[in-house]
Amino acid sequence: MTNLEKTLTNLHGKFVHHAWRHRCAFPNCTRTNLQHAHILSKGAFPHWRWEEWNGILLCAFHHDCFDGRIISEQRIVKEMLRERWPWFFEQADKHKKMEHGRWRSDQLHKKALEFRRILETQNNVG
Ligand SMILES: [Zn+2]
Repeated sequence: MTNLEKTLTNLHGKFVHHAWRHRCAFPNCTRTNLQHAHILSKGAFPHWRWEEWNGILLCAFHHDCFDGRIISEQRIVKEMLRERWPWFFEQADKHKKMEHGRWRSDQLHKKALEFRRILETQNNVG
């Protein structure tokens, strides 16, 4: 990863923590070991990794379930998250089929700027 890509990953992570109000997205979960997760995986869909809709905040346990590291719980956790946050999963379904070329550096810069603006607003609101 280039430095710009690392910066963007960091900004996307901060954005996700703020946007999900520092809480696990799983209904009624109060665990606090929160992680920045992706609905469409970074491995299979690297070009969607910095999208707002693709970031979800999960505790380590639900992240492990969601990504299939705890395979027995994966299906139910995915179903419950989809039911609770349908818009995010609809975006993921839609983008799964879409083509996306390689990010140009000017696009990466623009995206980083957008996240900085959003984060400034979020910080001002509290
Ligand atoms: Zn959780």
